[in-house]
Amino acid sequence: MKFPEALENPIFKIIGRLADRSGVQAYVIGGFVRDYFLQRPCTDIDVVVAGSGIELAEKLAKALQTRVTVFKTFGTAMVQAGGMEIELVGARKESYRPDSRKPEVQAGSLEDDQLRRDFTINAMAFGLNADNFAVLVDPFGGMQDLDDLIIRTPCDPDTTFSDDPLRMIRAIRFATQLGFDIDPDTFDAIVRNRERIRIVSQERITTELNKIMRSPVPSMGWELLDQTGLLEWVFLKLSRLQGVERRGKHAHKDNFYHTLKVLDNVALESDNLWLRWAALLHDIAKPQTKAYDPKQGWTFHGHEVLGSKMVPAIFRELKLPLNEKMKYVQKLVFLHLRPIALVEETVTDSAVRRLLFDAGKDIEDLMLLCRADITSGIESKVRRYLRNFALVRDKMKQIEEKDRIRNFQPPVTGEMIMEHYHIPPCREVGMIKERIKEAILEGEIENDFQQAWQLMVKTGDAILNRTSLENQ
Ligand code: ATP
Ligand code: MG
Repeated sequence: MKFPEALENPIFKIIGRLADRSGVQAYVIGGFVRDYFLQRPCTDIDVVVAGSGIELAEKLAKALQTRVTVFKTFGTAMVQAGGMEIELVGARKESYRPDSRKPEVQAGSLEDDQLRRDFTINAMAFGLNADNFAVLVDPFGGMQDLDDLIIRTPCDPDTTFSDDPLRMIRAIRFATQLGFDIDPDTFDAIVRNRERIRIVSQERITTELNKIMRSPVPSMGWELLDQTGLLEWVFLKLSRLQGVERRGKHAHKDNFYHTLKVLDNVALESDNLWLRWAALLHDIAKPQTKAYDPKQGWTFHGHEVLGSKMVPAIFRELKLPLNEKMKYVQKLVFLHLRPIALVEETVTDSAVRRLLFDAGKDIEDLMLLCRADITSGIESKVRRYLRNFALVRDKMKQIEEKDRIRNFQPPVTGEMIMEHYHIPPCREVGMIKERIKEAILEGEIENDFQQAWQLMVKTGDAILNRTSLENQ
């Protein structure tokens, strides 16, 4: 079968002509071919050459008058042209030792190269030479599996996964990204080989986890990780959220499935990866904070506080970035109960002001997370929550328009206080500032310079007088 419309970009003809002239066969292979049939955009092109990939890359760069980057140790070379990143590599055969996912590599045929690929849908190739231009080479039924929405390894799955255990997580990642099923034999092999995931570096695993998290329905990936037994190896703390305990008429919900529901709810509304991580981690401290009270039933007091404290260690373990993204996740985990707590009580202006102050620019994300967290099965309860939630939103809007708390800047600054009283930076300046902030949040004064200045003078006089008396 021929698919010339897949290779309309003139670059493919150029590569093919250069290959013809050098007397080698060249194919575009892997993700590009798969994504063409899935109608997904793809700008990463992998070209396999039965011969030297580097030589062909050098010729290509010369023909296009562009640069080539050579990775000698891997036998690969990269050329950027026409908005595409083209990686050229010699076809290879790989053999593995049991303790490593780094193979010994030998030159091989196209079919050897296809056989070492992870999944049938990733092992298809289009010919580029004149005699087979745009001809699909698909020895393992990748096309059929694309039609059937199946993830399957091209050879014996135990070998594929034992050779490179990262492929187990890639199987789950592709299933989640594409909404495919994992073929039963492939699935069973993952279960059998799950422990081998320990030889894979956390960075490689986390790259795949983030791709799962960015998928349309990310819960699918976490459920598959759980069902295959991989979850305990890649994220034990998450697997510990599982289970329901019952005493008398009291049973708590299964926090693993609840978490996944919240994650999917967030994913429906936002493609912010870090908001999705916040959803995954919002209840992570529930097992440690669980207690039983005969009157109240199951409680998880303080799980938001402990949970936010656990975030840095989790980010370190998972090799996620230890920067402002982590701080953002911490903050959302810490605050995730606050909007709903407002709903349950009477909504006072000062409580709303405090929430706006604490959440700052992340208030919208926090509200989204909190709304996603309403997963009760009891419809009347959900309806009541959502109604009250709308009330909180209205109130927030009113207060924000009036007081502009969200990006709070103190109307009277430390410098102004120091200048007015002729004092150096000291504890008292902080106390005066804090008093003004509190007065604004409590609604004693408005977020306004005049009113804040008056309060500054009143507070400053009192504090500094008292201090000077104390010092005498
Ligand atoms: P995406 O770009 O969406 O991550 P992709 O399929 O292009 O998906 P890459 O990681 O870019 O994935 O890999 C490119 C190709 O290389 C794949 O299509 C697959 O054929 C092959 N490949 C990548 N990683 C492996 C692996 N661990 N084992 C076997 N083949 C792999
Ligand atoms: Mg790719």
